[in-house]
Amino acid sequence: MKDNCFNEFDPNALNVEEALSRILKSIVSKKDTELVPLKESYGRVLAKNIKSNQDIPNYKNSAMDGYAVCMDITNSNNKYTFTCVGESFAGRPYNKNVKINEAVKVMTGGMVPKSCNAVVMKELVKNIDDKIVINANIFKDQNIRFPGEDIKKNTTVLLKGRQIDDVDMGILASLGEAKIAVYSKPIIGFFSTGDELVSIDTKIKKSQVYDSNRYLLHGLLQKYPIKIKDFGVVKDKLKSVEKKLVLASKECDLLLTTGGVSVGDADFIKDALEKLGKVNFWKIAVKPGRPLAFGKIKKCFFFGLPGNPVSVVVTFNLFVSAAIRKMTGQKNNTSLTLTAKLQSEIKKRKGRKEYKRGILTINNGEFFVKSSGAQGSNILSSLKDANCYIELAEHIDKIKEGENVKVIPFVLSSEHYE
Ligand code: AMP
Ligand code: MG
Repeated sequence: MKDNCFNEFDPNALNVEEALSRILKSIVSKKDTELVPLKESYGRVLAKNIKSNQDIPNYKNSAMDGYAVCMDITNSNNKYTFTCVGESFAGRPYNKNVKINEAVKVMTGGMVPKSCNAVVMKELVKNIDDKIVINANIFKDQNIRFPGEDIKKNTTVLLKGRQIDDVDMGILASLGEAKIAVYSKPIIGFFSTGDELVSIDTKIKKSQVYDSNRYLLHGLLQKYPIKIKDFGVVKDKLKSVEKKLVLASKECDLLLTTGGVSVGDADFIKDALEKLGKVNFWKIAVKPGRPLAFGKIKKCFFFGLPGNPVSVVVTFNLFVSAAIRKMTGQKNNTSLTLTAKLQSEIKKRKGRKEYKRGILTINNGEFFVKSSGAQGSNILSSLKDANCYIELAEHIDKIKEGENVKVIPFVLSSEHYE
């Protein structure tokens, strides 16, 4: 019997976890590295641990504009008088000795002289000639920033495999790291398949479809440190598909195609992959996105994604993103999930894990979720309106209003929590 996609319980379809584990086992991380100037390191993946070569801050300094005082700590009065002997600005320290009952005017970030044991904010100080009078308790070490309180010398601050973000760039700069060792960018290419597809700059006829998947993929790939290659559109002809696969796979580390991966008369991707390379699997018990070919053509990894745009996004989020993370040297990440109360009944057939598009809200501290609209895998507009996936396990069919469901919010990627 020819494999087909009509049965919800397809014994040849892998479950989501197994598919993911096969993908991660197969994908090879990029090993070559390059040194880039810090400014160009945003979004790149660290190829080495970053260890601090100094304390941050590297000197004792003031957290306030005020006075660094050398106070007699045995004096428990809450009235103090100090003689002001000088000034310490950020970058212009006061280098002489400060004795007991003396003070130095200090600005935020200015070095606090060695013997000074507190900083009193300007607003609490009364100036009388060369003296300052403070009518308040002064606590030892108050308003002083000590060396290493942010980062201690010799600690590992950023781990290899981390995608450099804005805060990391600040940290790297404060450590004086001018050149950063990062993994080289893998080349990821894609093309669309379909006789019905036309380019967005041409006039469209009834029965034709603008090729939106290449633009979806362009968008989906933006956050990864990769080089993108667009190989255009290919007609539904085995020979054309094969020719493009050969050409593109030579130029890429990973190749993505959309469409033509099912079992229709115009679906040639699986056959071409079988002929030119190796199919690892081509069906996953997931909705949307069951026909999804994963394999390799020579050294190039390959995903044949479904043609429907929603399936492209869902399978990209579930599988391709994990592959790219591994390829770019990043750790695998698991999505953060929430439990939310369903606001209206959802129907589903048993057999496949489903990722419905939903709208998640919070009311009085409780999460609620509802469908974001029609759930067909061609309906990109309900994905636009969604802010989460509602993940429904294989064995579930109907879920009634008021029941709890598992939700994966789009904004809460665990990448932010590593
Ligand atoms: P297929 O997987 O080739 O059978 O395509 C499934 C559905 O997705 C069909 O309705 C196609 O017209 C549509 N489709 C395939 N590729 C694209 C594309 N690149 N842009 C927009 N729609 C597409
Ligand atoms: Mg097609």
